[in-house]
Amino acid sequence: MQLLSLEGFCVTTLDDFRGACGAYRRQMLTVFGITLLTLVVAIAVGIAFKSEIRGFFTHQFNAAVGDALMGTMPVPAVIVLLLGSSLIQRRARRTAALRCPHCGKQLEGIQTVVIATRNCGFCGKQVIEWPS
Ligand SMILES: [Zn+2]
Repeated sequence: MQLLSLEGFCVTTLDDFRGACGAYRRQMLTVFGITLLTLVVAIAVGIAFKSEIRGFFTHQFNAAVGDALMGTMPVPAVIVLLLGSSLIQRRARRTAALRCPHCGKQLEGIQTVVIATRNCGFCGKQVIEWPS
């Protein structure tokens, strides 16, 4: 829930800020978990079907290119990591509770400062209401 401060800017509640930071952290951990799972699957497939995959690449290209392409097995995990984290960053930028209403900077990276001071760590202005 967004509240209007005395200065006319919206400030959020501590619970809303903590909830938004927790959701961001859970989403990032999910992406890291899926990335790790993708890496394990790619390595397992690479080990299980090593001769078949190398044979396919060697038949399509040549032995040197086949060996080089075998080294690209972890690429799907990198793609999952880059796409997933960029999607979550994009979602975080659209979450009002994670953005300073004064300077517009993202606050999830400095959440301990924000929670302790109730102020933005970049511009110093209030972003979380004080308990009444
Ligand atoms: Zn700010």
